[in-house]
Amino acid sequence: MTDTLSAPAPAAFGDHEVAQERRIVTPVPGPKSQALHERRLAVVSGGVGTTLPVYIDRAHDAVVVDVDGNHFIDLGGGIGVMGAGHTNDAVVAAVQEQVAKVTHTLFTVTPYEPYVRVAELLVERTPGDFAKKVVLVNSGAEALENAVKIARKHTGRNGVAVLDHGYHGRTNLTMAMNFKAMPYNLGFGPFAGDVHHAPNSYPFHDGLSGAEAAKRTISYLEKRVGAQDLACLVAEPIQGEGGFIVPAEGYLLALQEWCRANGIVFVADEVQSGVARTGAWYASEHFGLEPDMITTAKGIAGGMVLAGVVGRAEIMDSAHAGGLGGTYGGNPVACAAAIAVFDEIERRDLLGAAKRIESTLMPMLRELQAKHPVIGDVRGIGAMLAIEFVDPETGEPDAATVSRIAAEAAQQGVLVLTAGTYGNVIRFLPPLVISDELLRDAVSVLDAALSKA
Ligand SMILES: *Cc1c(COP(=O)(O)O)cnc(C)c1O
Repeated sequence: MTDTLSAPAPAAFGDHEVAQERRIVTPVPGPKSQALHERRLAVVSGGVGTTLPVYIDRAHDAVVVDVDGNHFIDLGGGIGVMGAGHTNDAVVAAVQEQVAKVTHTLFTVTPYEPYVRVAELLVERTPGDFAKKVVLVNSGAEALENAVKIARKHTGRNGVAVLDHGYHGRTNLTMAMNFKAMPYNLGFGPFAGDVHHAPNSYPFHDGLSGAEAAKRTISYLEKRVGAQDLACLVAEPIQGEGGFIVPAEGYLLALQEWCRANGIVFVADEVQSGVARTGAWYASEHFGLEPDMITTAKGIAGGMVLAGVVGRAEIMDSAHAGGLGGTYGGNPVACAAAIAVFDEIERRDLLGAAKRIESTLMPMLRELQAKHPVIGDVRGIGAMLAIEFVDPETGEPDAATVSRIAAEAAQQGVLVLTAGTYGNVIRFLPPLVISDELLRDAVSVLDAALSKA
């Protein structure tokens, strides 16, 4: 193999280049990764963390290969971005074609078709049988920024309600919306004002029914803020960074109804849960929701930089011309990738694939739970599953075991992501094209790691 540091590989890798198997050939991290990490530490801000200093050279479908030739099963999928699979052939082809046609004009100056097509797709694929419109931006956090801007303009109100254990990004406004101070917010203030945090529904911990939890959230907001001062309520249908918390039945619907009755814009933050991840185009569908606005990002464009807000036409149109936008928002290459991703979801039935992943992985995780009492909860929908670790005697969060298992799994060629306010959750959000065989292999590695821990 050529030296990948000085001679970048060609843009496209065929399937043959990345065997869909786990194969560890050096200590992890290997010598080339370690050398790269030295270079990185010298020049990249320490504020940019590293979960695992393994430097990736190439990837396909559900396997990533590092610079030392180690093949890892990727159960994190770049935090759910790679739903259609790493270097999906159709996405690669769409990007290559678009990049040679036009890479930038700035949509608000001279527009182009791919942006319009992505907007059409989002309008069609999001729940809610009403007229909708879209704005495209560059990141999940920017989508949230825009959703809040638009909700404020529409309602003429300032207040923003969010839920405990939520995560919404790293810009100033979204930091104010996050639940967890460390590592997201600590020392980075002052934060945007008029953001109000309310208790969520967390069945494993609060034991409340959806109706009880909704009553608690609503009465808190009514007492603490006042419904008439709220522009929007922003909720992740399944909380992502918070640990894949699936709310109790009826909880979200009760919040949506309360918002509707009080003129509050109900925003579903589907940056992590959207785009086929849960076996529906958007997770809101599982809960019978028709949000006034949905924010979407991560899985939308196969790793190209794209995000958006889709919402009721009359709300989206309340922003004046020129009030929304940005230099790169809805970049044509990113839009071409998104169109290919949406096409792949249909062509390869990736909604079905997400359900298949649930039906393969969920029983295996329950078996792990039966065997290892440190696993207190197994939960999730589709290919958005998680296990939460607690001390079986005290119920206290057990982050130490989670760290040990993630580290041991990496040594054996399985990449898992952690999550949770207490860092005591392992989440699974693999590329939807992962085979059952790879899932089984990965779980056997976790099983061994658990036994060892
Ligand atoms: C990742 C995430 C964000 C932030 O997205 P970025 O693209 O990292 O800015 C916002 N909301 C949720 C639910 C997320 O998972």
